[in-house]
Amino acid sequence: MSAEGSPVSAHDDGAAADGREARPLPAGLRPQTLAVRSGLGPSRHGENSEALFLSSAFVQPDSETAARRFAQMEDFTYSRTANPSVRSLEMRLAAMEGAQAAIATATGMSAILLLIMGLLKAGDHVVCSRSVFGSTIALFGKEFAKFGVATDFVSQTDVAAWRAAMRPETRLLFAETPTNPLTEVCDIAALAELAHGAGALLAVDNTFCTPILQRPLELGADIVMHAGTKFLDGQGRVMAGALCGSTSLIREVFWPVLRTAGMVLSPFNAWVVQKSLETLALRIRAQSEGTLAVARWLERHPAVERVYYPGLPSHPQHALAMAQQSGSGGAVLSFVVRAAGAEAARRAAFQVVDRTQLLSIAANLGDTKTIITHPATTSHGRLTEAQRQAAGIGQGLIRLAVGLEHVDDITDDLQRGLATL
Ligand SMILES: *Cc1c(COP(=O)(O)O)cnc(C)c1O
Repeated sequence: MSAEGSPVSAHDDGAAADGREARPLPAGLRPQTLAVRSGLGPSRHGENSEALFLSSAFVQPDSETAARRFAQMEDFTYSRTANPSVRSLEMRLAAMEGAQAAIATATGMSAILLLIMGLLKAGDHVVCSRSVFGSTIALFGKEFAKFGVATDFVSQTDVAAWRAAMRPETRLLFAETPTNPLTEVCDIAALAELAHGAGALLAVDNTFCTPILQRPLELGADIVMHAGTKFLDGQGRVMAGALCGSTSLIREVFWPVLRTAGMVLSPFNAWVVQKSLETLALRIRAQSEGTLAVARWLERHPAVERVYYPGLPSHPQHALAMAQQSGSGGAVLSFVVRAAGAEAARRAAFQVVDRTQLLSIAANLGDTKTIITHPATTSHGRLTEAQRQAAGIGQGLIRLAVGLEHVDDITDDLQRGLATL
């Protein structure tokens, strides 16, 4: 225990209740080990599994200490400012992304809100892919615009289009790769070079690949954003978000905003996600392997017109995806059912979705349970038909976020509807 009696801080000079010094982790641990071992050290009780700190306030030993702790990020005073369970998740996620630091938020969307509130002011400009998550488009295009932060949306895959959209006041490039639902891949290293050449930063939404498959900071990105709601939790239980980056960005730019604005992650959700990170690699690899098998099966199916999956050689950015994503296509694919005309395509897609008996008809991904979605009438339902056409989201498109069921049970379930077309 430290002189102040803080039972939890990994940064203090603490010892366990039995008088042993708290053990620092050895240097040079491999990612697999960091996923299980990194985080805040145990409390004075020596628990082996990370404890859950459901406490809104933390008792201070005296006024002098309280005054010091309120001024910095290290110790715990009030859970909007910092919480041990949240801190522990942040440390583990940062270690896995190869980042100096991370900061957790209530949802993936609030991580983007924090990103913009921290980095930008009225008059600044953003260049963003037009294929990013639907709420991300609405947040940049509509909500931030109200505060004078303008965004231009450009082709996901055309670096020249990103370059052409840059202005003197461009401060941020925002990318997501691969995208949902068409799995378009952008070149992170090329966008990082473009951003840095113009004095801007590159932020990458790494929700689909997670650090197991893709580490954007190693490719030159400045900030990684996560919807922890998806693969990081991985079992469809909680909402969560995070930003990862340099210590100076996290502490000096984002933390002051988060502690004031308050879109913090609940300690319970942080604890759930931190424990899930221990099995992330196993889940991502198994789900990606399953997805490749389903993609190959769909590509051979006579009722399927096209399959979108970066792991297939037929994908337009297959080579880039394999280089950037550890040789894996990830665990989300989309496919188009064969039909003549939009109305027939919608009926055929609904038939495939509705004949399933196993898959979940839901609007989520990254779950252990496979989820089937009709994007044109759900995630992209608010777009006009013209906007949907421009985005390539046709009525025959079906998205599949593959879970951990046996691959043959997944294809059997898809076959119930596909066989009728
Ligand atoms: C789900 C998702 C988000 C938003 O995350 P929430 O936790 O739902 O707010 C952002 N980006 C991507 C790629 C997502 O899939």
